[in-house]
Amino acid sequence: MSNKINAIRGMNDCLPKDSHLWLSLEKIIFDTFIAYGFKNIRTPVVEKTDTFCRAIGQTTDIVEKEMYTWTDSNGDLLSLRPENTAGVVRAMIEHNLPREGIQKVFYQGAMFRHERPQKGRYRQFHQIGAEVFGAHNAKSDAELIAITHSLWQNLGLKNITLEINTLGSNEARANYRSVLVDYFTQHKDQLDEDSTRRLKTNPLRILDSKNEDLHTLIEAAPKLMAHLDEESAKHFDAFKAYLECMDIPYVINTRLVRGLDYYNRTVFEWTTTDLGAQATICAGGRYDSLVEKMGGKPCSGVGFALGLERLILLIQEQNLSITGDTLSAYIVALGDEAQIKSLQIAEQLHEALPALILYNDITMGSFKSQFKKADKANADFAIILGEKELNNNQVAIKPLKGQSGQQAMRIEDAINYLKGEI
Ligand code: ATP
Ligand code: MG
Repeated sequence: MSNKINAIRGMNDCLPKDSHLWLSLEKIIFDTFIAYGFKNIRTPVVEKTDTFCRAIGQTTDIVEKEMYTWTDSNGDLLSLRPENTAGVVRAMIEHNLPREGIQKVFYQGAMFRHERPQKGRYRQFHQIGAEVFGAHNAKSDAELIAITHSLWQNLGLKNITLEINTLGSNEARANYRSVLVDYFTQHKDQLDEDSTRRLKTNPLRILDSKNEDLHTLIEAAPKLMAHLDEESAKHFDAFKAYLECMDIPYVINTRLVRGLDYYNRTVFEWTTTDLGAQATICAGGRYDSLVEKMGGKPCSGVGFALGLERLILLIQEQNLSITGDTLSAYIVALGDEAQIKSLQIAEQLHEALPALILYNDITMGSFKSQFKKADKANADFAIILGEKELNNNQVAIKPLKGQSGQQAMRIEDAINYLKGEI
């Protein structure tokens, strides 16, 4: 038996060679949310299991088979968060925030689901999501779509489609549920094991089945749209009109029911044809009864979550460049006095050029070996501190890419020189 320690299956390290892409993407997304007037909220990774059961629903895939749950030493049943809407709603209620007016928040972080790991599907994955509390109008649904739409445009994403649907009111859905149960019961012999179980527990979820054999049966099923209540129909019409006035294309997908129980009215997904079976990169909808269901005063809600791993895969698949240009330099210093000077100069450079990536040599090697390290770090410039430079109270700057030679100058001039390169 090997005594090497490995990470848990489906839980990945993000290594330095990849993390710059994550940092750039997160920054772009956070800045977009902030520009749309959203504020950041951070809730714990662990909550009482009941928080998720009540929010997400007992008969959903997540609660039935995907949660990491254990009993704490004091007997509490706890779970790692499989999603973050439940935790955000819990925090909203606990801190009475909706009482202060409309709340627009965004969150980011790791989520955990015990699923079969594959490309685009992991056991620890990362979401960034947004929630709006206290706005019942379809305008806030449309604003959430506008945010994601502008994000995709800023990133340069292609082959991405907005799918929308409406689930109506709770009553309309309950009526539709019985129509659907009648229909699928008549065709019971065609259902697979999963759908036969769903027929009893959560019949709407049959529409969401990924089994291609059921496709024709599902296509022919009665549509919720025909059972919609008047208010929800109006809400959906307004939502579509808002999207149209912003020139955001969409398709209506009547099979789109989403995997969580808390949604009503608007539901949507952004899907792509470029990632195989893991096609949804962002999903959300309206959840007007969730806050009340979780013990708060009635307060409407709407939100979405996007999966960062899938977004990164898509960015890589489409060869998009999002990291921007950076300038870097490596300080090459030889001798005890030069080490002291290099630390002082590094501070001056960081202060004057906050965007400069600066590697101050810590190998204490020869000039030759330090230059090799500078090349390996892919630095644009070497800033050299040798005996001659120290004696003249100067540094030498040598571009490492291209042919130009080395130039000695005072540190103030070196700062101006590098400023010109940024
Ligand atoms: P799927 O149908 O692919 O299982 P879902 O409906 O379970 O997705 P949501 O709960 O709506 O997903 O989560 C929102 C987004 O989070 C998804 O669209 C996806 O991008 C991402 N996501 C969900 N589960 C995973 C996972 N196990 N690994 C990576 N990303 C995930
Ligand atoms: Mg899922």
